[in-house]
Amino acid sequence: MAEYSALALVRNALNGNRDWKPAWRKPEPKASYDVIVIGGGGHGLATAYYLAKEHGVTNVAVVEKGWLGSGNVGRNTVTVRSNYLLPSNTRFYEHSMKMWEGLSHDLNYNVMFSQRGCLNLAHTPAQLDDYARRGNAMRHLGVDAELMTPSEIKRLMPAIDISAKARFPIFGGLMQPRAGTARHDAVAWGYARGADRRGVDIIENCEVTGFLREGERIVGVTTVRGDIRAKKVAVAVAGSTGRVMQMAGIERLPIESHVLQAFVTESLKPFLDTVVTFGMGHCYVNQSDKGGLVCGGDIDGYNSYAQRGNLPIVEDVMSEMLALFPGLGPVRVLRAWGGLCDMTMDGSPIITTGPLPGMYLNCGWCYGGFKATPASGWCFAHTIVRDEPHELNAAFTLDRFHHGILIDEKGQGATPRLH
Ligand SMILES: Cc1cc2nc3c(=O)[nH]c(=O)nc-3n(C[C@H](O)[C@H](O)[C@H](O)COP(=O)(O)OP(=O)(O)OC[C@H]3O[C@@H](n4cnc5c(N)ncnc54)[C@H](O)[C@@H]3O)c2cc1C
Repeated sequence: MAEYSALALVRNALNGNRDWKPAWRKPEPKASYDVIVIGGGGHGLATAYYLAKEHGVTNVAVVEKGWLGSGNVGRNTVTVRSNYLLPSNTRFYEHSMKMWEGLSHDLNYNVMFSQRGCLNLAHTPAQLDDYARRGNAMRHLGVDAELMTPSEIKRLMPAIDISAKARFPIFGGLMQPRAGTARHDAVAWGYARGADRRGVDIIENCEVTGFLREGERIVGVTTVRGDIRAKKVAVAVAGSTGRVMQMAGIERLPIESHVLQAFVTESLKPFLDTVVTFGMGHCYVNQSDKGGLVCGGDIDGYNSYAQRGNLPIVEDVMSEMLALFPGLGPVRVLRAWGGLCDMTMDGSPIITTGPLPGMYLNCGWCYGGFKATPASGWCFAHTIVRDEPHELNAAFTLDRFHHGILIDEKGQGATPRLH
């Protein structure tokens, strides 16, 4: 398959763009594979890519019920950051951040990673103290973090209201300068192309409908395109985890599926060149390369498998954005959409062997699995090949919920909405 290069661009421009090859094949499923990955989202595709690239395991199929990018990988608000407090989270997400920094070159696919920074705003002195603690914890682990004063924030984003009469006055903020955004669908396509060229079969429109078993052991899947056997079956279906695991007889998981919505406004002239989060509720916003403001907030207030949301969250997000940037009042919202988030009870993910022999589970990404995509795939591939976790995902077990060894970043308890 051709490398993408400036020369290839010129050559194809001169011949009417007729010679571009499809980025991945459309193979028929084989009767059996070494590994089947269920779910062609970011995590499933990254897992297949690193199975092939890092471990030489290429007899792999990714089976996806729809088209690539139809799930959360193509629906998120693209924030990439590693500004965590707890060491197991910080180390894992910082590993991901370092992988993002080289991802476009690694994949030979421009994922448009833009390190424009991510600023968490503090609206009380106590919140600023809390951010200082998190920033110090990050710096102890070698991660970049800076506390900003209100006047520094005003210089960075002149449209923000830092006046004392603001509904939620701003006392400062915690900035991670290396955080930023990436182009979500390019991430899916880049991993798909990279996996395909190493021999992985990516099989779209192939919903998994059940599992093949020999006793307790999982030995393959049943799909709408027939049965496929495998030595190992890896599940990476994000918001559909509960439904898919139920097909294997796992009735209860410490996960709830909820809808998370996102919104984009009409294009504006560039005025916001960082990601900013509102600290007195839940609202995050960045300005896309096309000029639209991409924003989101809390999950909807009840469990759902529908990929569309409801109006109360629209009102919430818009009112919080206006509290920060009152001048945005006349701006029109162009589009809104929803994705299915797999919310764990402690807000941290699960990347593990089991829970059945022959099965591997990757889920629980809550609000923030896009930024984890490279490290998640990398660690999951290691876990599948070695039958044990890498030290970076050793804490992200399923049985931590049995043993009470929770990784509760914000100390919120079993309240998915707050993680
Ligand atoms: C609106 C929104 C905003 C977000 N914003 C951010 C953000 O700013 N930063 C961040 O880090 N994260 C964000 N996230 C979270 C992030 O998008 C997800 O955590 C992450 O994408 C989940 O992993 P994935 O890409 O593998 O999931 P998905 O892309 O959802 O992949 C799972 C795949 O499994 C497939 N599947 C399901 N059932 C079956 C079956 N039976 N058979 C075969 N295939 C099946 C689905 O079709 C889907 O393609 C956001 C999510 C949403 C919804």
